[in-house]
Amino acid sequence: MSPRILPRLPGVPLLALCGPMARLAHIAARRLGRHTRHHVEPVTPEPLPAPTQSPPAASVTAAPMPSPDVVDDGTTLDELLEEPQKSPTWVALSGVDVTPRAAAWLDELGARVEADLLPITVTSGRRSPQRQARALHDDLVAGQTPQQLHALYQRDDLLDEVLAVADEGVEAMTEVLALQLARGEHLSPHMRDDAVDLRRRNRSTEQLGRLVAHCQALGAQTVIERDHLHVQHLTPRPRA
Ligand SMILES: [Zn+2]
Repeated sequence: MSPRILPRLPGVPLLALCGPMARLAHIAARRLGRHTRHHVEPVTPEPLPAPTQSPPAASVTAAPMPSPDVVDDGTTLDELLEEPQKSPTWVALSGVDVTPRAAAWLDELGARVEADLLPITVTSGRRSPQRQARALHDDLVAGQTPQQLHALYQRDDLLDEVLAVADEGVEAMTEVLALQLARGEHLSPHMRDDAVDLRRRNRSTEQLGRLVAHCQALGAQTVIERDHLHVQHLTPRPRA
């Protein structure tokens, strides 16, 4: 046995030197293994010490539940679902034909009104003869009298033509309105894309008054109807 291979630190056993290093190497390998465990399938499943940095999955997915009284304006879930978001300031009910022209006007209105009036809900826009017939029919079913309708529509002659066939139903009314349109006459400004109806539900008198004022400031004319604010003449005033 040569003295050169004797341990340089006499009294310290070789295993005592190698033991901590082997342990470090083992821990390093473990850490490496643990680090890549999510990406690489472990070759041999080894029991890990108690996890120090993996919280229970439940606490990750647990989110605060929305308070049930967040929406408190009487809007039902069905109404929310039927109202596709079109703009931050106004929404149109599903199936309502809002043309780019009307949308531009609504954007302008939305930019003017106070936050408590938002969003503005559009319940009617441009109407085909069929949509116009449906609107009239709905008004009649809701109990509106021909006299009340005459107060709303400016063309008494055109309205009389439609009301004359009201008993025959929406299709007959649609035909009359289509014939009027063919000869260049419109019972309603909705039919020439110059009117929108804005929901007035959940608006206080004061809020409705402000909405009317904003519409009129844009040069529009307004009529407060049984369940909406009718707004026509959708041409913004030329700026001075
Ligand atoms: Zn209207």
